[in-house]
Amino acid sequence: MLRKVESSEKILIVGSGCAGLTAAIYASRAGLLPLVVNGLQPGGQLTTTSEVENFPGFRNGVGGFELTESMRLQAERFGARFVDDSVIDVDFSSDTKKVLGENASYLAPCVIIATGASPRLLGVKGEKEFFGGRGVSVCATCDGAFYRGKDVAVVGGGDTACEEAMFLTNFSQRVYLIHRRDTLRASPLMRERVLGNAKIVPVWNSVVREIFGSEKVNGIRVENVLNGARDEIKCAGVFLAIGHKPNTQQFAKFLHLDEDGYIRRMENSFVETNISGVFAAGDCADKVYRQAITSAGTGAMAAIAAERYIREHLERKRNG
Ligand SMILES: Cc1cc2nc3c(=O)[nH]c(=O)nc-3n(C[C@H](O)[C@H](O)[C@H](O)COP(=O)(O)OP(=O)(O)OC[C@H]3O[C@@H](n4cnc5c(N)ncnc54)[C@H](O)[C@@H]3O)c2cc1C
Repeated sequence: MLRKVESSEKILIVGSGCAGLTAAIYASRAGLLPLVVNGLQPGGQLTTTSEVENFPGFRNGVGGFELTESMRLQAERFGARFVDDSVIDVDFSSDTKKVLGENASYLAPCVIIATGASPRLLGVKGEKEFFGGRGVSVCATCDGAFYRGKDVAVVGGGDTACEEAMFLTNFSQRVYLIHRRDTLRASPLMRERVLGNAKIVPVWNSVVREIFGSEKVNGIRVENVLNGARDEIKCAGVFLAIGHKPNTQQFAKFLHLDEDGYIRRMENSFVETNISGVFAAGDCADKVYRQAITSAGTGAMAAIAAERYIREHLERKRNG
């Protein structure tokens, strides 16, 4: 499997979002000189948003890029190193873990996986243009407060879409819930809550065809899937709640994943996987919270657990 051995490390961190960067800060401060494999999106998902208002310590908010860049510099200050590469395969069958990147291969007794999860997108006109700060969002907890007193639309029909819609009623006048079917997939209790909320307006049997606006979103064009009728809905924000795809397929041969592809943690552990010495942090192992701070939190936990593992691992080796 190995091509060229780029490096033999004490600890390898795969992914450079909030989870990977926080793990890098903790691991480097512990003197482990971690190597971080950046992946295609150095800084992670947060770099796609202009304003983060809920990360502690920034009372006036902070830009997503600025925040993750600061984390990277903080980790570098203590000796963390970063490499532009993407992991395509792994071999966790022995004590020394092998990680194959597109450019090189890496060996380490300990690996922290922090590859995140990518939000599923609609693929319609206007979506990319208005994404992250201009009206298209994938996180009501993150961005709901920007839409105080304004109308918004949520796209989806599962539990997440319903949660997002309910949360947005704290701020918005009207929340259109756009769903391609005529019943919600959410649990009965959640369905009842959503349909009983006067601020939520379901738009059944409909799909979004376009998101339009000028500087920011002004509305969406929807199409009825039964009769093809088109309609325009004025709104200032569009929240996509059609799921996330965890970036974990490269690890599936060795790590236990749940039915949606998220890395399973061991019972009674926040970060341990089924392979000893391999830890998971951030959104790749969390389909519930998906926040910068929770990812950073598990990144810190993973690095602390990894430091203990490495210490014990080296001790075992020394003692034969
Ligand atoms: C537009 C937007 C706005 C948001 N706003 C907020 C907000 O205001 N507040 C908040 O708390 N949260 C917000 N979030 C959510 C937050 O960004 C995520 O919860 C957080 O980034 C998750 O961090 P992570 O490190 O687990 O994963 P990610 O940020 O997804 O990072 C994953 C990392 O893994 C790397 N990677 C992936 N695959 C590979 C591979 N094969 N090999 C190597 N590396 C790989 C990527 O390059 C990336 O660096 C927002 C998300 C989005 C999309």
